Amino acid sequence: MATDIEPTSNQTGRSKAKDELAKDIHVEQSETKRVPRPAGVNSKSPILWSYLIPVILFHLMIPLAFYPFFSWYGLLFLPIGNYFFTSMGIGAGYHRLLTHKGFECPKWVEYTLVTLGVCSFQDSPARWVLVHRVHHQHSDHQPDPHTPNVSGFWSHMGWLFIDNLDLSTANAYDRYCRDLMRDRYYLWLQRNLNWVLVYAVHALAFLLIGFGLSFVFAPENITHFTASFFFWTVIMRTVYTWHVTWAINSAAHMWGYRNYETREDSRNNWLFALLTNGEGWHNNHHADPRSARHGHRWWELDITYISLWALERVGLIKNLARPNYRKLDKNTV
Ligand SMILES: [Zn+2]
Ligand SMILES: [Zn+2]
Repeated sequence: MATDIEPTSNQTGRSKAKDELAKDIHVEQSETKRVPRPAGVNSKSPILWSYLIPVILFHLMIPLAFYPFFSWYGLLFLPIGNYFFTSMGIGAGYHRLLTHKGFECPKWVEYTLVTLGVCSFQDSPARWVLVHRVHHQHSDHQPDPHTPNVSGFWSHMGWLFIDNLDLSTANAYDRYCRDLMRDRYYLWLQRNLNWVLVYAVHALAFLLIGFGLSFVFAPENITHFTASFFFWTVIMRTVYTWHVTWAINSAAHMWGYRNYETREDSRNNWLFALLTNGEGWHNNHHADPRSARHGHRWWELDITYISLWALERVGLIKNLARPNYRKLDKNTV
């Protein structure tokens, strides 16, 4: 998948290259500010009720997590759940591994990371990878599936609920994620909404774990303990991780600073970098998509990368892609 950006590959002088790139960026940005929705989203596009209804229901349940099912231990599970399911599942599994091939690992490690991602309820691996590869290919231009140049709401969550017909064809899957469609597990997850089944089974497992733990930690109040455990480990964690992940598509293309001149509006957004354990260093990521390390400066904390580095040290993964600073330095802002 050729997603790397090589804006200065044919240039000689550094300043000349920067001038040319700045000119390109200016032209492209002035052409693409306020773009319409992708052409694949039109009057024939159905509403994706199978995704819209759960998202509405989960948001309607938020007040219950604060009353009557609030608990401090439940709140503690939020960052823990965010780390395992979203940082390791979506950030490491779906994004840095499947989409960008930022490292190599045995299949059982790959499937473990990806299954954690499935339990974040952010679509199947193949669909997620397809959409994200199209995003890298056309970032902030037509037909980027979720640029904030359409609108902030569209980029955050609006695009999720209307079928983009151009991305739903067999041709699109073949073009953008053929590597995943050849894998029996990912193919199975894709078929008959089996990825939703996996999410439902994991939710039921957490409900049962909470019920079991209640006999140890709160035998006098089994219902409250079980419900609180379930609401904070599943419902609230899912809603939290939806929004921080969606914010990479919205906020991290609108607000923040840029280390590199790239051909889109990607930003390093420190708030969402902290909330996602590293995904918010999005300008760095667009400048060097294959690198599994998104934090490039010493203060750009990337816990997902540190975790991958630790997994490499113990031999569970290998060939962890680092930033190509020789290439990146040519595009430094
Ligand atoms: Zn982006
Ligand atoms: Zn990416």
